[in-house]
Amino acid sequence: MDEPTTEEAVQRGRALVLADLAADGLAGPDEVSRLEEAVSHRRWWAGEWPRGAVFVPGLLAQDMQDALLETHGPWPRCPYCADEPHPLDVEPELGEDPHWVCGRTGRAAAPVGSLASARR
Ligand SMILES: [Zn+2]
Repeated sequence: MDEPTTEEAVQRGRALVLADLAADGLAGPDEVSRLEEAVSHRRWWAGEWPRGAVFVPGLLAQDMQDALLETHGPWPRCPYCADEPHPLDVEPELGEDPHWVCGRTGRAAAPVGSLASARR
């Protein structure tokens, strides 16, 4: 078995989501502390359901969408739909290899963790 341990999956998810926050200038102390809250919840969650650990990166991205909605607004902005601004969605919602996807056009903007590549 070379599946990642729960802690490896949680740390990987943390790093990916932090990179995406940084890509949009949202890696300040407030956002990072919200991310840490989400990380500790998902660490518990994956401890209860170790086979779900691979889903943690995508779930953390969605946790931060929810957290930022209260303080910052919809995140992350879709790079394709300037005429009708909307946030990207995480797909799959519960799966491995999550991507940021435009729900209007179906275009995949970037893997979670590589949002910076959609911002150039
Ligand atoms: Zn779009």
